[in-house]
Amino acid sequence: MKDCLFCKIAAGEIPSTKVYEDEQVLAFRDIAPQAPVHVLVIPKKHVSGWYAAKDEDDAALAHLMRVAAEVARMEGIVESGFRVVSNCGKDARQSVEHLHLHVLGGREMEDQMA
Ligand code: AMP
Repeated sequence: MKDCLFCKIAAGEIPSTKVYEDEQVLAFRDIAPQAPVHVLVIPKKHVSGWYAAKDEDDAALAHLMRVAAEVARMEGIVESGFRVVSNCGKDARQSVEHLHLHVLGGREMEDQMA
């Protein structure tokens, strides 16, 4: 989608530090990491958020979840543990309107999730 930051990253128009890529999904390092490992996993197809997903997106979004776990494995944080977060809408402070998962790890997280 025009004017979408993550669509531009997926298209290679804006640089990113790529961690994983396949036909449907791109994973890259967050520009402002909040943990030693902070990777964003996005569908290449524009979906604004979970609220906008359609039946036809089911396979790609299931794949997205599995890629998040694969990224954790590649980053060596499966044994120590990791958190997968997806902010959705205003109160959750979603700042980029292109569905994405944050894969966070490499340190012990707070008890509070929010
Ligand atoms: P959210 O606030 O959940 O929508 O997450 C958006 C994330 O995108 C934030 O953690 C930002 O730090 C990250 N971000 C914004 N611009 C870039 C960029 N050009 N490359 C990588 N990460 C970015």
